[in-house]
Amino acid sequence: MKYAMSKLKIYNTLSGKKEEFVPILKDHVGMYVCGPTVYSDVHIGNVRTFLSFDIVYRYLKHSGYTVRYVRNITDVGHLLNDEDSGEDKIGKQAKLMNKEPMEVVQFYTNGFHDVMKAFNITPPSIEPSATGHLIEQIEMVQEIIKNGFAYEAGGSVYFDVEKYHEKFHYGKLSGRKIEDLISNTRELDGQSEKRNPLDFAIWKNADESHIMRWNSPWGEGFPGWHLECTVMSTKYLGDTFDIHGGGMDLKFPHHECEIAQSKGSGKTEPANYWMHTNMLTMNGAKMSKSVGNVVSIEELGSGDHLLLEKGFSQMAIRFFMLQSHYSSTLDLSSKAIAASEKGFEKLMTALETLDSLKTSNTSSVEINGVKQKFEDAMNDDFNTPILISHLFEVVKIINSIQAEKETITESVLLELKNLLNSYVFDVLGLQSTKKTESQDELTEELMTLFIKMRKEAKDNKNYELADEIRNKLTSLNITLKDSKEGTAWEKE
Ligand code: AMP
Ligand code: ZN
Repeated sequence: MKYAMSKLKIYNTLSGKKEEFVPILKDHVGMYVCGPTVYSDVHIGNVRTFLSFDIVYRYLKHSGYTVRYVRNITDVGHLLNDEDSGEDKIGKQAKLMNKEPMEVVQFYTNGFHDVMKAFNITPPSIEPSATGHLIEQIEMVQEIIKNGFAYEAGGSVYFDVEKYHEKFHYGKLSGRKIEDLISNTRELDGQSEKRNPLDFAIWKNADESHIMRWNSPWGEGFPGWHLECTVMSTKYLGDTFDIHGGGMDLKFPHHECEIAQSKGSGKTEPANYWMHTNMLTMNGAKMSKSVGNVVSIEELGSGDHLLLEKGFSQMAIRFFMLQSHYSSTLDLSSKAIAASEKGFEKLMTALETLDSLKTSNTSSVEINGVKQKFEDAMNDDFNTPILISHLFEVVKIINSIQAEKETITESVLLELKNLLNSYVFDVLGLQSTKKTESQDELTEELMTLFIKMRKEAKDNKNYELADEIRNKLTSLNITLKDSKEGTAWEKE
């Protein structure tokens, strides 16, 4: 579907404008998105950001591009409060859990992957981790020092922001003015090794109290958080690539520092398009671990949370998120998700209806206009809420055909089915929950049958068969629990 390629517009934070998307290579797109710091369970706020980029990834592929999507795992260097002092988030968690840092990393990375899968968020093409790229990070620090934009102090290396700003523009992405930044940052307390409070660590010295530390030309230490993204994005996508994404909260200082590091190390501008997704909020406040207002994935599923009236399926939540544009804040509330859940079910029912629609010799329904509307919505900076409103217009048409107020030919119906399948399932990544519900029902019926067969075997004193049924189920991790009321089953 290459025709969609040239019309895509993306809001570029770098220019503050919606711009026509022109990739560096004609058919290929390189995209880097800042991944999670794997020191705790991901919350539903994180999911929103990764979902927004899943849509970007899916739509670029739908438009005919071959996309290399790199999303990292931060497994070292991200310090508490996102600052240069304080404990490493993963190191701290490892001490708390009395585990190896890599055990913590593996545990939460697995959890992150499970959540991504549950929300049908496509895995990236490459998922590099910071600890896997220490040599490259050390090399980049050396380049930046060589170019005069960083200095060593006490075994740490700091990026010299003022020196950089003499030649380049620090603040070009975030729009922050260096003069304001200087006057707003507190004076150095004399203890600090930094020449200027604005400077940031690209390598941190670590003493023996740090469990995560590596040898470097400056002694034992670990890389700075901002540095890892510069190293991993450019390693896999080239010095300049097409899209760099992340949550709005990463625009400054994280992404501003990434640009500075790239140019400070002698590379070109890292990304042509910078995309920032807006925050998921609760009662107007950004959902974040430090605020303490996070809703976990389990709580959303079960409804076991003060602010939730009931639990919701991951697809209802996915649909809820897609009903707002990625650049707007989205407030999470039970009412709002419940409304989306209804809409989602309506859409899924209409899709099922398609299979039973009667066709005619003539069609009063026209598809080309619909297709164009879908495409225009997505080409307008991935406008999923507009796309969904067009999908509901189609739902109305489907219902009219079913009520025999409109007619459709077999070939137009086939075209409509293909169009809806590609936008609803491929582009929006929705999945029908009906299928899993009917699978659940089937499991329940089969289990009732096994339990009945086992009871009959026991009643007939055929203990061999009764035991065989129980043992076979045990090997499938299904436990049977006998009580006066009968037999219940449980799957681990
Ligand atoms: P972290 O693991 O804290 O580095 O966050 C991983 C990603 O989730 C980053 O891109 C953040 O910008 C994003 N994020 C964190 N909190 C929220 C939120 N409340 N809403 C949307 N995105 C968020
Ligand atoms: Zn990053």
